Amino acid sequence: MVRDTAFKRVIDAQSLAENQEKKKVRTSLYASDYGNCMRKVFFQFFPAEYGAAVIDARTARVFSNGNAVHERLGGYLAKDESLNFIAEVPVPRDDLDVHGRCDGIAAVDNRFTIVEFKSINSKGVTEPKEAHEGQLMFYLHMFKVSQDRLREEFGIAEGLVWKKEDFEGVLSSKGRQFSELDRIEQRLLLSEGVPAGELVYEQKPNQGVAGFPIAYDELTAEKVMAWFANVKKHVDEKRCPEVHYAKSSFPCRWFGSRCEFYEQCYGPDGA
Ligand code: SF4
Repeated sequence: MVRDTAFKRVIDAQSLAENQEKKKVRTSLYASDYGNCMRKVFFQFFPAEYGAAVIDARTARVFSNGNAVHERLGGYLAKDESLNFIAEVPVPRDDLDVHGRCDGIAAVDNRFTIVEFKSINSKGVTEPKEAHEGQLMFYLHMFKVSQDRLREEFGIAEGLVWKKEDFEGVLSSKGRQFSELDRIEQRLLLSEGVPAGELVYEQKPNQGVAGFPIAYDELTAEKVMAWFANVKKHVDEKRCPEVHYAKSSFPCRWFGSRCEFYEQCYGPDGA
């Protein structure tokens, strides 16, 4: 039995307070929404109509721990100068206005490489989760679109790789010089190939780390973008998405816990 001590009470209260502070009313989609229950994402846009249950202190700390893992693993990569690591990079947006911030970018074999960290409750991850792969594919797609635009702006023929010195004296079709670009744009232009990615899992039970390189794939990227377009359409039309989950299994209910919108879907008694 867990004892209710003075310190535990403070830790629980502060965990909940921190979680509440971070909660904002939704105005846009996030890249990390990919693969979640579409209806859950939809509900978050309309808190007045679809109120969420307050999560418990333990769950609040699980979320907080996920953020701490990103900072710690990113810190390791930043210490290796050869990677030229930049943490927390905003991801370009298009008309869907999906907000995203990848955990970091680095130069691996002279290629623009995106890293995404995840902590997972498993002792041995053997393959990446589809939702995480989709999130990373979204990043890869958006950075590739930016890279294509930049290469077109500077008139770089397909298949060619320009070194920094090749840009000397070159003015882009928008009248920009290489030195006027921000550091992310410069990295995209100097990348040998389209952006690549890697999902890095830290296994909570044993602190093991497993990495999975993810290559850009047009079909997967199309699927991911279509998923976001579908959710956005439902939000714009204020139309609750149809979903087909069993009420007794994930993502509705798991290990003695349940989705914060469970009552919205199944009623107060889960009937
Ligand atoms: S209870 Fe299930 S169906 Fe309803 S929002 Fe949550 S995850 Fe989605």
